[in-house]
Amino acid sequence: MNADIIVIGGGIAGLSAAARLSADAKVILLEMESATGYHASGRSAALIEQNYGAPSVQALNRASVGYLRDANGGYLTPRGLMIVASADEREAFQIDLGKMGVDEISVQEARDMVPVLERETLAFAGYHADAFDIDTDRLMQDFIRILKRNGGQVLTDRTVTAIRQEAGGWSVTAGAEYTAPTLVNAGGAWADLIAGIAGVTPLGIVPHRRSMARIKAPGGHDVGGWPMFFGVGETWYAKPDAGALIISPADEDATHPHDAFADDMTLAEGLARYQQFVAEPVTKPLATWAGLRSFAPDRTLVLGRDPEVPEFVWCAGQGGYGFQTAAAASLLLADLVAGRAPELDKTSVAALKPDRLRA
Ligand SMILES: Cc1cc2nc3c(=O)[nH]c(=O)nc-3n(C[C@H](O)[C@H](O)[C@H](O)COP(=O)(O)OP(=O)(O)OC[C@H]3O[C@@H](n4cnc5c(N)ncnc54)[C@H](O)[C@@H]3O)c2cc1C
Repeated sequence: MNADIIVIGGGIAGLSAAARLSADAKVILLEMESATGYHASGRSAALIEQNYGAPSVQALNRASVGYLRDANGGYLTPRGLMIVASADEREAFQIDLGKMGVDEISVQEARDMVPVLERETLAFAGYHADAFDIDTDRLMQDFIRILKRNGGQVLTDRTVTAIRQEAGGWSVTAGAEYTAPTLVNAGGAWADLIAGIAGVTPLGIVPHRRSMARIKAPGGHDVGGWPMFFGVGETWYAKPDAGALIISPADEDATHPHDAFADDMTLAEGLARYQQFVAEPVTKPLATWAGLRSFAPDRTLVLGRDPEVPEFVWCAGQGGYGFQTAAAASLLLADLVAGRAPELDKTSVAALKPDRLRA
């Protein structure tokens, strides 16, 4: 089967890239699982916090928020973000306030928003309203709709096992043979492996596990209006989720690409850190899971043509920012592939290109 562009990977990175690229080209997306969004993209906390990430990631966050707010009826609902700290965490708390652009509020104001916060432990709190839940499922489904409307295809159960660069372009084996002059690597945790299969030098993209537990709403409270709340230095966080609470130990253990699952001990330690700040006891998790957040060495996305093999395009290293950056990252990628001047500022574009990692 022939196309102009083959995209490998059916997570948010590949789906958004394929949708944008399909405006100018015939695009086929190959996904090894039987459904899209099975790996990292099906396991996220689904938040946009514009001050989260390196400067070029923040530039993508800012450039994405308009799309997330307005496109297709909008994907955002208000959530808010709170940071809570104990008396001996004052210094780290002040650093977090500056980094995240969060205002200090009184302990009483914090408890008014999250009534289960423990009086004995809570000494400092910060809050800002400018953080939103993203409807991640609808965002992915809508990118699939755009791709299909433009004549593109999403093919699941297609594990890419061989990639050859021939005179006419790439020949990709995924059960059947697929050919195209341009190949986009949106393989998430597998991005470096895919580069290796294609004979392209990997960039050092390493998956890191992040675990999650869902528990019943503490004390039977209606948690729907609570903000997402964090321990200082992102050592744990909790977020309302469909009437329950999801809690993450905010772990970041380097690992290999695989179908990730939560580590019990890591979860228990994270739940203990959460418990110090919450008066209601932690109950048995309703569910646990983990996903892989994949980072380049500088923790910044990698978007654009490979400097040595320009027909090979990187759309990888989304780390903990894949959803909040997708709208602008996919637009930038499409501009770079088409040879158009990107809307994003030049400094950010240079910081995102793969060239920086081959200097
Ligand atoms: C617990 C957790 C919380 C998070 N919270 C947030 C958040 O609040 N906000 C936010 O913006 N981001 C968040 N993230 C990050 C976000 O989920 C990721 O950045 C994003 O999902 C990465 O998308 P992706 O498409 O690159 O990877 P994936 O979703 O993993 O997709 C890659 C795809 O490539 C496919 N693939 C790999 N190899 C092959 C092959 N050989 N052939 C065919 N297909 C292949 C895989 O099957 C997979 O489906 C969180 C992540 C985790 C784990």
